[in-house]
Amino acid sequence: MAMERTLSIIKPDAVQNNLIGIINTQIEEAGLLIVAAKMLRMSRVQARGFYVIHQGKPFYHDLVAFMTSGPVLVQVLEAEDAINRYRKVMGATMFGNAEPGTIRAKFATSTKNNAVHGSDSLKNAKREIKFFFAQHEIYSRT
Ligand code: ATP
Ligand code: MG
Repeated sequence: MAMERTLSIIKPDAVQNNLIGIINTQIEEAGLLIVAAKMLRMSRVQARGFYVIHQGKPFYHDLVAFMTSGPVLVQVLEAEDAINRYRKVMGATMFGNAEPGTIRAKFATSTKNNAVHGSDSLKNAKREIKFFFAQHEIYSRT
């Protein structure tokens, strides 16, 4: 398996609900290394740009409003097969479909308010990491 990096966002709902620690514990216990981290509040321009892939979808406007509603914790995770590994830890997007024990099964309160983001492909991971981090802000440990 290839060593990969993926972008994680702990979303405004989870930050507000005091879940950073428990989510990061679950991330670390899955063997994902946190190699970069910052807290920030996304501007509307930033959120629209980050989710440009979903522009035109019915949930786009609400998604941008949600992602700008409060601070988020943005992190880069590193591991073998990090992208798929983290998607498994997060669980399914649709509310109620997330596998038991996953972050979303435990902490999502709707399809939109689903606690975490994770990149869905190598190409998107590269783009999303670059969106938030300069090379010198990432501290590889593998
Ligand atoms: P993310 O990209 O945040 O990791 P995902 O890849 O599982 O999540 P996407 O299909 O990329 O899901 O959708 C991006 C985000 O948009 C979701 O995480 C969720 O917050 C919101 N979203 C997706 N589908 C819906 C929907 N049908 N209704 C409301 N919100 C939605
Ligand atoms: Mg996605």
